[in-house]
Amino acid sequence: MNCPFCKNPMVILELAEVEIDHCFSCGGIWLDSGELELLLEGSAEKEGLLASFTIDKDTKEKSIKCPICSKRMEKVFCGKGVKRTRLDKCGNNDGIWFDKGELQDVLEIGCFDKNNRILDLLKDMFAGKNIHKVITS
Ligand SMILES: [Zn+2]
Ligand SMILES: [Zn+2]
Repeated sequence: MNCPFCKNPMVILELAEVEIDHCFSCGGIWLDSGELELLLEGSAEKEGLLASFTIDKDTKEKSIKCPICSKRMEKVFCGKGVKRTRLDKCGNNDGIWFDKGELQDVLEIGCFDKNNRILDLLKDMFAGKNIHKVITS
């Protein structure tokens, strides 16, 4: 699968037993439908966070195309108030695109404590360490 943002090939990495598509060029992450739910397993804020998704109709941000169905994705807000970040989500529910750093933001909004295993794994991943499991390229 190619990166929907910069078009470079993505690699599949395993993050806490969830397979994620990661673009090393731009640092973005694609999660198939249902994978965010898996990563949020154990978060006290899981339901609230998933329920907080609202479409941003007024954005001027350039839309990007879904890497699966090629339709333009919707801009959605996740979280509330100042703790809010904007993501790209496929209207056909294929999955969600996270620009560099946005997955960490969402997990932090999810009120994981700072020592959460997934946040640690993500930090290592972006530091270029600990990528022991590249499943395919
Ligand atoms: Zn990219
Ligand atoms: Zn799609």
